[in-house]
Amino acid sequence: MSKLLIEGATVVTLNRDNAVYSPGDIILEDERLVYVGPSQRRLAWQPDRVISGQGKIALPGFINTHTHAAMTLFRSYADDLALKPWLEEKIWPLETKLTPEAVYWGTMLACLEMLEAGVTAFADMYFYSEETVRAVAESGLRADVAPGLIGVAPQAEQALVQAVDFVKRIQASAGGRIRARLGPHAPYTCPPSYLKEVVSAARELGCGIHIHLAETKREVEELKAQTGHSPVELLHEILGEVGPVPVLAAHCVHLSNEDVRLLAEDGVGVAHNPGSNLKLASGLAPLADLITAGVKVGLGTDGAASNNNLDVLEEMRLATLLAKLATGDPTAVPAATALRLATLSGAEALGLGEEIGSLEAGKQADVILLNEEQAHLFPRHDVISRIVYAARSADVDTVIVAGEVLLENGRPVKLDREKILAEAQRQAEKLLG
Ligand SMILES: [Zn+2]
Repeated sequence: MSKLLIEGATVVTLNRDNAVYSPGDIILEDERLVYVGPSQRRLAWQPDRVISGQGKIALPGFINTHTHAAMTLFRSYADDLALKPWLEEKIWPLETKLTPEAVYWGTMLACLEMLEAGVTAFADMYFYSEETVRAVAESGLRADVAPGLIGVAPQAEQALVQAVDFVKRIQASAGGRIRARLGPHAPYTCPPSYLKEVVSAARELGCGIHIHLAETKREVEELKAQTGHSPVELLHEILGEVGPVPVLAAHCVHLSNEDVRLLAEDGVGVAHNPGSNLKLASGLAPLADLITAGVKVGLGTDGAASNNNLDVLEEMRLATLLAKLATGDPTAVPAATALRLATLSGAEALGLGEEIGSLEAGKQADVILLNEEQAHLFPRHDVISRIVYAARSADVDTVIVAGEVLLENGRPVKLDREKILAEAQRQAEKLLG
């Protein structure tokens, strides 16, 4: 058993009372937290390792609830376009050329980028998911991986069979850090009959689904014209017929009041992606209404081709600022709520609220340290306000996932940074060549 002590940090717990300990200590025993509280003057035991928390803010790792990790390879390849031509003319043609190797290196680049930005867990939906899992396993990060399913594609049935097989294999491997679910892309690429088939398969497997939902106004209008239902109503109907499964729904921008109520009733986890929604001009999601209704909302970056980075800290700031603009109310989504979206609420959206998302004894040890000795973080007024409104992801100094130190002094411990950058560049060039 290995014991690690983080000593004398400003500890932001995100526990039920939103307790902050300054100075505070954190004790890790293997992959779990065993003590989070005020600094203890004298220890009755000898830690195997001590990390100084002097001048550091400790908080739970950030959670990216929606991304397509390997799309880092498409970063800055096609920008300033609307969602439809962007997907149909730029992204989808390039995706037909993807290889397992490209997905592996694209995901490695994403893992490196997220690690350096203090992201300890992410939910992914993409292709060649075995390669995503391989990269995540090597990176040490935590992930929820969903093979993407396009119902209108010629091989849709075969893809579902393979995805079911993939989920079974991940469930059997019981690694703990990596989980799997099915990823029906969206109602506009998965007709209702196929969507129902996928939800039924998820129910049989005992896993969830990860889907894009109500991202654009056009999607909502077209589905209503075809089926008489909004995307959220259609999902509600299918869940009613098949039985409940955990749902992670990305975007949820264009919602009626009834849609918001249904998302809460169905226990749907919503991945709010303010950066992507801004860049693709998709619209302003009703974040404040979703939170008020009790919907489990997390933050997502979406893929790097529509953001263009995987920085949850940046999404957190965008989320609170946009909520204020959208409501005309500067008190909307205050700092403490925004930080919760990036951590505990995100964990709840992924169904992992009991395991991660806050610093509490008994939980998994997913901890990050921010370097507080920065001009933009002084003076030391409210710590949560400083994190949400002033911190930068470059302030991330240390990242620990499941008790393993993955980033130290801002440098990756086990990932080969130079190699990942070179290989990702090579794969991107190959895709275009
Ligand atoms: Zn997406």
